[in-house]
Amino acid sequence: MALGPQQRTPLEQAIPTGAAEAPTSRTAQKVVARLAELRPVHEAFAWFRARARELEDIQLEVTAIPAPPWGEAARSQWLKTHFEEAGLADVHQDELGNVFGIRPGSDLNSPYVALSAHIDTVFPGETPIKVGREGGKLHGPGISDNASGVTALLAIANVLRHANIANSAPILFMGNVGEEGEGNLRGMRHIFDQPKWLDSIGALVVIDGAGTDTIIAEGLGSRRYQITIRGTGGHSWSDFGVPNPIVALARIIDRFSRTTVPNTPKTTFNIGTVQGGTSVNSIPQVATMRVDTRSASVEQLDRLERALRDAVKECAAETGGRKKDEALTSEILVIGDRPAADLPANSHLLKVIRAVDAQLNNNARIQRASTDANIPLSLGREAIAIGAGGSGGGAHTVNEWYDPAGRDLGLKRILLLTLALSGVSEE
Ligand SMILES: [Zn+2]
Repeated sequence: MALGPQQRTPLEQAIPTGAAEAPTSRTAQKVVARLAELRPVHEAFAWFRARARELEDIQLEVTAIPAPPWGEAARSQWLKTHFEEAGLADVHQDELGNVFGIRPGSDLNSPYVALSAHIDTVFPGETPIKVGREGGKLHGPGISDNASGVTALLAIANVLRHANIANSAPILFMGNVGEEGEGNLRGMRHIFDQPKWLDSIGALVVIDGAGTDTIIAEGLGSRRYQITIRGTGGHSWSDFGVPNPIVALARIIDRFSRTTVPNTPKTTFNIGTVQGGTSVNSIPQVATMRVDTRSASVEQLDRLERALRDAVKECAAETGGRKKDEALTSEILVIGDRPAADLPANSHLLKVIRAVDAQLNNNARIQRASTDANIPLSLGREAIAIGAGGSGGGAHTVNEWYDPAGRDLGLKRILLLTLALSGVSEE
């Protein structure tokens, strides 16, 4: 059905996208209930059921394309083609391989409602990728995290066109690189570094992994470090007394691990790896370790960083020799930095997702995690991460699986959320 831009519902106007004042929950509830009654929305729901098998095929297809960190190019190209086939406008990639496509809206001045799914996996390029069906389940490394998210993105883009839904605000679809591990959110960070996107995205809904039972509205911050201690090294007998980098590292670990952390906000640290030395009868030249720190609070991350830097400086100095050529040098490299920030409890986005969950009789809990949503949240923007529906397991292993039972609930949830944020013009 062709819907004119001038025929907007009063309810839809009650929730302007990107508005400064948040609507009451009751208003959000009314808007969502009204949306769920619209004929095109019913058509969309039916499409999700009718195309279940096709969505599985797409999910298997994307899983079979390797997408290791910093090696997502083939998948970017694949997604670009699928965005074009879904009829999105202005489909393009940026220099990192983030892929963009736009569903234009009738309201030309409205900011984008953005939907994103990360396209990278944790698996190195040489990982053998076997995908397939077994029983009712799909199997393959990355099949759930995040092939299910990419599939949901394409399902929403296609259903908007199929059901001819007249969204008011434009909808921006993004497949982004670099979410996992040492990718360190580089894809989303780059997007929000561009004034072009920073100024035009009103709200971001990140689709990551399976499920419908969580709303990630609190970003878990983390910082990771690699500490390297270097010395001249030497023979264990003839050079005895030359300062030992492993001893310095041991002292640093001892001192740093005595740092107290609060229960609230929950704050943690971990010495994850230690390496160094050449043989039992050599004084080592190098010792390194990797440290992970996490907290809901930036202040706590700062405090841990100071404690770590002090421990490194003091213990390296204590362990080093008096002579100049016997000093130990230390280096602290930040190898990961994910900002911590929360979506305010009275935010528009949170009210709308709550209203959608009430409409669908879906039980979801607010959770804290580290996702692409951390980036806009840390910039004071509205963002959440939710699942693509269905269920999954074995994430980050080659035995990962996805069960599509219940996928349509996830897709309905994403669609209603998107439309409640964008507004819909009615006949
Ligand atoms: Zn993921």
